[in-house]
Amino acid sequence: MIKYYHFWIEGCQMNYADARQVAVALERAGYRATDQAEKADVILLETCTVRRSAEDKAYGRLTSLRPIKERRSDLVIAVMGCLVGIKGNRSLQARFPYVDLFMPPSTDGAPLLAYLQQHDALSHEQAALAERYAIQDGDRAFSAYENGQMVSAPVAVVYGCSHACTFCQIPNKRGVERSRPVGDIAREIRALAAQGVKEITLLGQIVDRYGKDVPDGPNLAALLRAIHEVDGIQRIRFLTSHPNWMNDELIETVAELPKVCEHIEVPAQAGDDEVLTRMKRGYTADDYRRLIERIRERIPNVSIATDIIVGFPGESEAQFQRTCDLLAELRLDVAHIAKYSPRPQTVAERTLPDDVPPEEKERRRKTLDDLQAQMVSEINSRYLGQTVEVLVESDHKGKWRGRTRTNKLVFFEDSREWQGETAEVTIKWTGPWSMLGEAS
Ligand code: SAH
Repeated sequence: MIKYYHFWIEGCQMNYADARQVAVALERAGYRATDQAEKADVILLETCTVRRSAEDKAYGRLTSLRPIKERRSDLVIAVMGCLVGIKGNRSLQARFPYVDLFMPPSTDGAPLLAYLQQHDALSHEQAALAERYAIQDGDRAFSAYENGQMVSAPVAVVYGCSHACTFCQIPNKRGVERSRPVGDIAREIRALAAQGVKEITLLGQIVDRYGKDVPDGPNLAALLRAIHEVDGIQRIRFLTSHPNWMNDELIETVAELPKVCEHIEVPAQAGDDEVLTRMKRGYTADDYRRLIERIRERIPNVSIATDIIVGFPGESEAQFQRTCDLLAELRLDVAHIAKYSPRPQTVAERTLPDDVPPEEKERRRKTLDDLQAQMVSEINSRYLGQTVEVLVESDHKGKWRGRTRTNKLVFFEDSREWQGETAEVTIKWTGPWSMLGEAS
């Protein structure tokens, strides 16, 4: 009888990359993916706690699994990610006793397979397959996960984070910065390419610090050069960069290597120097302006994404205005705007009162969102009539859905098969979040 696994994934792309490692293990042991939790023999929750709202979602999902588990005692429920954290989470175990296994972020499939084996959940045949997986570890690709239709795959290159932004829980949850060896990363990417993946996104909490934790280690620029050689991979992206580590060598490398897309994700977080200092970001608003200028000078047609937190403790109206001014001046392609959420065990939560009222945080978020939407509509309208390269990722409600090298979402209708192919698309309509076009 076929056994099934079901994944519920919240949060950052790192969680998707982590989930894939577990999926590989399960598939090697003969499990198949299902999108129905009720049908699954193993359920994995990939959790996020970057903001309170994400954490609450994970509790909600865990609670909703209880009746399924009560009906089926053989069901195995595993929880992974930042809700568990690198040090484990005892109160979580007490609160959700029906969870079988808690795994820290970036755990590979081995502990789950070992658990299944110990609890006789694996048949003889599956156990043999699982053993083979253990030997082959390192060749971390996937098989039927996402039905072999994955066009774009995230690949972790640095785990953890050693920067101490005062608002952020990630260093506590994911541990200190650890870069993976180039050889391991290249092997994973070759395996992905062999299965039809065309685009990879290199991931790290501060991806431009890649290699800095290893004496004489290669840096991100060197890593980009190394994986540029992998046949079959057509596009390379990386995220998230911290402004302090985006040096000229990296910018030049992006400009030079044809597979590396002209798209940079580099969060500003705020436009006011006092707020930036309280956040412990390590740069000023002017440093950020100069960085954007340097990137734009060297990489033609680059698109840039940023993250912003509004309502950080003590943020005055004038300080918020400086963030509005920064965004209005720089006219970036994307701004992910979040309301400050105090996170346990962070410096900000311990030492700075969360003194911007919720309605005010919401007003600031909406003000920035509206400003950004207006600007992006204008930025995107410049694509009208242009023909762009679109790597098609999926079929979405009768339209092909893909992205430009600059990470703009494009839809087009066409009777031909485009999944995983690059189409030349002439843009006919643009909005703030997507574009429509025609393939030639
Ligand atoms: N390492 C990246 C950020 C990764 S976390 C960097 O250095 O910028 C993703 C985003 O979540 C952050 O950029 C930040 O904007 C947001 N975030 C993190 N902690 C938060 C908090 N406590 N409240 C609200 N947003 C937060």
